[in-house]
Amino acid sequence: MECIFCQIVSGKLPTDIVYQDEEVIAFHDIKPQAPVHLIIIPRRHISSLVHLSQADLSLVGHMVGIANQLAKREGVAESGYRLVINCGEESGQLVPHLHLHLIGGRRL
Ligand code: 5GP
Ligand code: ZN
Repeated sequence: MECIFCQIVSGKLPTDIVYQDEEVIAFHDIKPQAPVHLIIIPRRHISSLVHLSQADLSLVGHMVGIANQLAKREGVAESGYRLVINCGEESGQLVPHLHLHLIGGRRL
């Protein structure tokens, strides 16, 4: 079966998308760990950081830039927020499609 985040990208899995452009989309985490918990993903399927090519490093920079913008929009830019990318089983990565967590709105 197609990866769950690819299904969100293709619109097969209806999701509350808060930002999108040609390269990335962002949406609310289905099981938020804090008042603000967004997920930013590349549209293209990349399994994890360890599968990221040198040429794709700028994509992660773009994801961080969007996360910073979304942190402002969500009102946590000043209070503080955490950006997390899990990579591999022992990190707790459950969805095998590269994603950046933006978490904030409470003391972590
Ligand atoms: P990971 O543990 O892989 O770093 O994080 C995956 C995140 O994706 C989890 O926080 C989980 O709640 C979220 N998630 C898993 N499936 C879905 C889904 O179908 N929709 C949304 N919006 N989030 C999901
Ligand atoms: Zn995928």
